[in-house]
Amino acid sequence: MKGAVKMEKTVIMNTYQPFPHVFVKGEDVYLIDEEENRYLDFVAGIAVNGLGYSHKGLKESLCNQVEALLHCSNVYYNQMQLLAGKKITEATQMDQVFFCNSGTEAVEAAMKLGRKYAAFKGKPQCYEIIAMKNSFHGRTFGSVSATGQDKYQKGLHPLLPGIKHVAYNDIHALEKAITEKTCGVLLEVIQGEGGIRPANPNYLKEVRRLCNTHDLVLIFDEVQTGVGRTGKFCGYMHYDVQPDILALAKGLGGGVPVGAMLASEKVGQGFKPGDHASTFGGNPLAMAAVKTVVTTIMEAGFLEHVQEMGEYLAQELKVLKETCSVIQDIRGIGLMQGIELSIPAKKVVQEAYEQKVLLVGAGESVIRFVPPLIIEKHHINHCISVLKHILKKQ
Ligand code: PLP
Repeated sequence: MKGAVKMEKTVIMNTYQPFPHVFVKGEDVYLIDEEENRYLDFVAGIAVNGLGYSHKGLKESLCNQVEALLHCSNVYYNQMQLLAGKKITEATQMDQVFFCNSGTEAVEAAMKLGRKYAAFKGKPQCYEIIAMKNSFHGRTFGSVSATGQDKYQKGLHPLLPGIKHVAYNDIHALEKAITEKTCGVLLEVIQGEGGIRPANPNYLKEVRRLCNTHDLVLIFDEVQTGVGRTGKFCGYMHYDVQPDILALAKGLGGGVPVGAMLASEKVGQGFKPGDHASTFGGNPLAMAAVKTVVTTIMEAGFLEHVQEMGEYLAQELKVLKETCSVIQDIRGIGLMQGIELSIPAKKVVQEAYEQKVLLVGAGESVIRFVPPLIIEKHHINHCISVLKHILKKQ
């Protein structure tokens, strides 16, 4: 069996550089390889497995849904989509949802709705979207064009026209970039792949004000920050602003692939039947996952636990910084934390992996911590002690 797995690795296209071991199981907050080694997981599928690997309710709801109905076209209503749709609109305080299958699709749908809404208002000449430098929005042509980092765009030109990039957290740069052709602003509440960089406290309010003044849609890409990751259901809830359009994915299905694009009722008018579609979007199996994940996260005490663990992790990282001179900065909100290092993150991630702690970089020099949201203090203590051992040697 192990030999067969080794052979089969060659059929996987060369887009990642995976670690050598092959994972076969997950338990609680651990991934287990084919030799039964257990790895403490501070990656969680990159902010996906929020409920960990053993959540009974999630497994049960998926098994029940497999029995009841696996797939049903969107030319019909399916019950699970209606139930999941109600849950997610309530949790996000948005009015309408379009379900898709990934983060990049949610961003694509958001950008399309931004342009469509401008056309709906009678302003088809307003097609420009202002996005941020250093951002990440996905890998399809629209979302990679909105991404503000050259390394993801190399060899893909010409990109989608009509997207401008301005410095993040710089309200004057944004104001200057708005023209009579602008239809919307797209940004991450915390830049994730760009190195765990939260929006400054007043910045989002100022962005909202500019969007209101110039009649632009405000699109938040919360693919990484959403679904409880920051200790509130959405990251924007820390900032007391409301977007017009919201993209979610990653943690939304607890490991089942799903994305969602949500909008206010007003902006949702931009889409009419036939304007956008997805064969699998809103599929009953994925919807069963969404319903359970959102219900669980909104249960009393869940988000408080994320806040408590996030504060504990941040505090332990601060203590670590006092004794490890390679740590330059600590940033993040809730269980989305990052440390900026003066050495390459890759080296530390590799050494932690050898000690059976899973970490992931965010850019060249940042280590990001996005564990399952059910993580406990003793897991954090273990991760910090492994990290301390590694960083002290540098
Ligand atoms: N947007 C953000 C903020 C992300 O972090 C990601 C993935 O890392 C995406 C979009 C793309 O999501 P997916 O990989 O599910 O297409």
